[in-house]
Amino acid sequence: MSKQDYYEVLGVPKTASDDELKKAYRKLARKYHPDVNRENPKEAEEKFKEINEAYEVLSNSERRTQYDQFGHAAFEGGQGGSAGGFGGFSGFGGGGGFSDIFDMFFGGQTGFGRRNSGPEKGADLRYDMEIAFEQAAFGVETEIQIPRTEECGHCHGAGAAPGTHPETCPKCHGSGQIQVTQNTPFGRMVNVTTCDRCNGEGKIIHTPCKECNGRGKIRVKRTIKVKIPAGVDNGSRLRVAHEGEAGLRGGPPGDLYVYIFIKAHKLFTREGNDVICEVPISFVQAALGDEIEVPTLDGKVKFRVPEGTQSGSVFRLKEKGIPFLRSSGRRGDQHVKVKVVTPQKLNQRQRELLAEFAQSGGENINPEQKNFFKKVKDVFGV
Ligand SMILES: [Zn+2]
Ligand SMILES: [Zn+2]
Repeated sequence: MSKQDYYEVLGVPKTASDDELKKAYRKLARKYHPDVNRENPKEAEEKFKEINEAYEVLSNSERRTQYDQFGHAAFEGGQGGSAGGFGGFSGFGGGGGFSDIFDMFFGGQTGFGRRNSGPEKGADLRYDMEIAFEQAAFGVETEIQIPRTEECGHCHGAGAAPGTHPETCPKCHGSGQIQVTQNTPFGRMVNVTTCDRCNGEGKIIHTPCKECNGRGKIRVKRTIKVKIPAGVDNGSRLRVAHEGEAGLRGGPPGDLYVYIFIKAHKLFTREGNDVICEVPISFVQAALGDEIEVPTLDGKVKFRVPEGTQSGSVFRLKEKGIPFLRSSGRRGDQHVKVKVVTPQKLNQRQRELLAEFAQSGGENINPEQKNFFKKVKDVFGV
């Protein structure tokens, strides 16, 4: 099945502003949220995922540009793929991480309205992190603050004040569910619904814990150390195991996913593990050759521009690029793209010298120009 266009999913034109996107997204997400849309939960969940994925891409200007250019292909395979194989890293496109959306609408309530009685893994959390170009190249250790739900330490998640015990719900006998029999035109139907006495918890707390008001969980801001490895690419996803939301009924906590976004650099752009840097030089330097200083990730290095260098020429500085992930010291290269700058605002003396230069035949010694005019002659006959 081919994927639907993200703009169509959200029902907005390609020219939609960020605000229009957000509005359309919120409207749709409310409509199809599986906790809200009870008529067709399976379909709603699918639709909700689609909406979520579309918005995740279009709300990020960089990824929206990529999408506009390459369509869905922008996020298949290649994106962040260089990080593949690294423990806990994977590219975009895997979906996951609904928790931020749930936070947005329901103040942290999670789970698609499921009522399982067994232990359940906590929700995964997503954190978007912007890092500097150099930090992506060489790695960085940093701390981030994550608001999340944790087990209440006062009652150890029981919800009942210490010393008291929750009572098993007398209506559902602890299952959290009750059966309701209805007579319909199609016959008798048995519906299983959430127990209204205990709200599906299966137990009733008479003396709630003061710290968590009987919820058994509290909202905290937790500081978490994150180690970004050298060589991460834009869009890489770092998994920090067990740092997501608390699990339910004794289940393990979810995971935390840190999405890496790399800030643009003043001098460098990145292509895979190579660094591209454009360096302007004067036409005199280009003609006569010169030693220039070139900025690299390791600081300035001296570089010899050869005599007769053309504008647009690219020189390679080996091993001055971005380290490869998980490789001991192997690095990409730096490409130095030379831009020859034509002088402006010449003074009288400079004009005279250049005119003299032209008269001396200086203008006719460029074989590339000669070749070009020969082709013109071939085409036009004169
Ligand atoms: Zn408590
Ligand atoms: Zn009950």
